[in-house]
Formats: sequence, structure tokens, C-alpha cells
Amino acid sequence: MNFQTYNPPERVLMGPGPSNINPRVLNALSKPTIGHLDPRFIDLMDEIKQLLKYAFQTENDVTFPVSAPGSTGMETCLVNLIEPGEKVVVCVNGVFGGRMKEIIERCGGIPVVVNDDWGTSVGPSKLEEALTENPVAKIAAFVHAETSTGALSDVKTLAEISRKHDCLTIVDTVTSLGGSELKVDEWELDAVYSGTQKCLSCPPGLSPVTFSEKAINKIKNRKTKVQSWFMDLNLVLGYWGSGSKRSYHHTAPINSLYGLHEALLILHEEGIENAWQRHTANGKIFCNEIKKIGLSPFVKEEERLSQLISVTVPKHADEALVRTNLLEKYNIEIGAGLGALAGKVWRVGLMGHTSNINNINLCVDALSKELAV
Ligand SMILES: *Cc1c(COP(=O)(O)O)cnc(C)c1O
Repeated sequence: MNFQTYNPPERVLMGPGPSNINPRVLNALSKPTIGHLDPRFIDLMDEIKQLLKYAFQTENDVTFPVSAPGSTGMETCLVNLIEPGEKVVVCVNGVFGGRMKEIIERCGGIPVVVNDDWGTSVGPSKLEEALTENPVAKIAAFVHAETSTGALSDVKTLAEISRKHDCLTIVDTVTSLGGSELKVDEWELDAVYSGTQKCLSCPPGLSPVTFSEKAINKIKNRKTKVQSWFMDLNLVLGYWGSGSKRSYHHTAPINSLYGLHEALLILHEEGIENAWQRHTANGKIFCNEIKKIGLSPFVKEEERLSQLISVTVPKHADEALVRTNLLEKYNIEIGAGLGALAGKVWRVGLMGHTSNINNINLCVDALSKELAV
């Protein structure tokens, strides 16, 4: 066999993640690896925590990146907060709410599911009803930006309702962090997880999380051990916790953390409000442009995400062929519909570094050409 160095093609990543990586981040990733207990590395960890607090808009002490993809952040929140036998209200309006339900069951919790149609937001009154009917439930879980459909939910209101019923909240912000208004402290969210490959424009493989004091108290007072060794916060915080001795827990993904630091620095330089505003503006432009070529967004405007737009596939179009041609002829990746929406929509991502006018024009031109043939 004649193996050679791998050279990936250069793509315009306009799917549901990963998004394109800023060259500054790629450069940071290639810097020399140092030890994960090197004092200079500990300094970097402290800065990452500070920058993550800014991105999440929180003062939570327990704010750090889990060394694994977004799904592990999800699992970290759920396995730490849920004890076997506990009822958990979980809102499902797409794939990721469904994944939360699956994990709740696997950690011995009893999910109470609040279903909403795919492509719509989580309904606050439905959540309220479920919480009223299940007063023993002390945790409510929901997704901010449902990447599988392109729907945005009103997390601020959902959290208010949950608090009124004495529930802690677990919130998926994988696609919203850096792309949609998100205020962890102001909205009093308790356990929040995200990912790096969506609006932060980092490679995948890290999951920023943040926990309120209330959440940490619940975890500290557990009657049972967290069933996952790797994700047990009581242990992880020996490495990431503030004022801790930074003792070995697992070997941190050092170069990935260089990348995350640079991506968070870029977000800080832009300003979080400006980043939200850029995503909102570009989402609107994209929707206006596709209307001009006869396409329409699947989700109605009030419930629509700006960084991930589901586009209804016209009747005459070959859904898969258009995606293949976009990739092969134009180097543009867009996403397919999932589950109930498979074959019915394309999912177009305008996340982080990808969210700019050039990419919008590129994608709309390519779609218009492919749909004309
Ligand atoms: C991408 C995504 C996840 C999962 O993240 P991975 O890094 O793929 O594990 C979870 N929730 C939402 C809303 C996502 O978009």
C-alpha cells in the first residue's frame, strides 16, 4: 500500500455543523503541544474559563469545556443532575430533545415528554401543564436552537415557568451559543451545555458547559454516585475547578483548547451582541434571497433560527441530487432533513465564521442554477 498524507478538500461548510474555521483558529491548533499541567497551560485554562463566561453571559464559577463533543456536554448535565428514579420533564421538538430523553432513561430517570411539532418552538403552556401535572419533577430540560429543524425556543420564558415550579433547568445551547441571544445569568439557567463546531467556528470535539450554584448544590448532595466516571463533575473539577490543585483527571485535548481559546478571543473581539446581530441580519438576508428564486423557509418567521435555516424542497427537485451537486460542483456543503423532515427540507447553516454575505450569495446562486436545470 502506498499511503500518503491526507489533504482534505476546501469546502464552504453551510450545513448543520461543523462551520468553517477561522484561519486564526487553524493556526492556533498547530502550535507546539505542551504538558496539560504546565503552569503556562494552566494560565490558558483560566483564560478559556473567563472567555467562556463572557460567551455564556455568566459569572458561574463552574464554567469549562468538557473534553468531548456536544453530546457529551448534554450527557454531563443529565448524568450529574439526575438520580435514578427521578422524574424529569423534557421538551421534544426535534432530534436533540429526543436525544435528551434517551439519556434521561439511560441514567435511570423517568422522562415526562412534552412533544411539539418538528419545525415549531417548544410551547411554554405545554411545559407549564406538564410541570403542574408532575409536581415531583424537579428538573426541566429543553433545547434552545433545534438544529434538526431550525426552530428557536424562548428559553427565557421556559426557564421562568420552570422556576415557578421549583425546577432546575438543563438547556441545550449547542447551536445558539455565539449565534442567538443567550443570557445564562439573567435568565437564571442552571445547567447549560454547548458545542464548538457551530457558531464558535472551532473544530468539533469540545463541549463548553456552565452550572449555577443551585445545580452544583444538587450534585454535591446526591445520594448516589454519578454513574459515569469521566463525566462526574465532582472529579472533573479537581482539574478544571477554580482554586483547585489542578490534579490529573484525564489528559486535556491541549491543541484543541488552543483553538477554542482563539475562537473565543475572536468572539470577544467582535462583541457577543454584535455576533448575535450579525447572525440575525444574515439569516434575514438569506431568507429574502431564497424567496427571490422561488424557495421558502420551512419554519415560520417568529420561530425561525438565523444560523440554521430549513428550506422547503420544491416538488420538482431531487433533494439528494441538489445536495450532491452543490458539494461536487461548488464545494458547498448543506445538510439534509432528519427524521420526520427527511427529504422535505435542506438545512442551510450560517454559523459563526460561515455567516457572511459572500457565502449567502454563493449558496443562493448555486441553488438557483441547480434548480433551473
Ligand atoms: C450538534 C448538536 C448537538 C450534538 O453535538 P455533537 O458535537 O454532534 O455531539 C446537540 N444539540 C444540538 C442542538 C446540536 O445542534
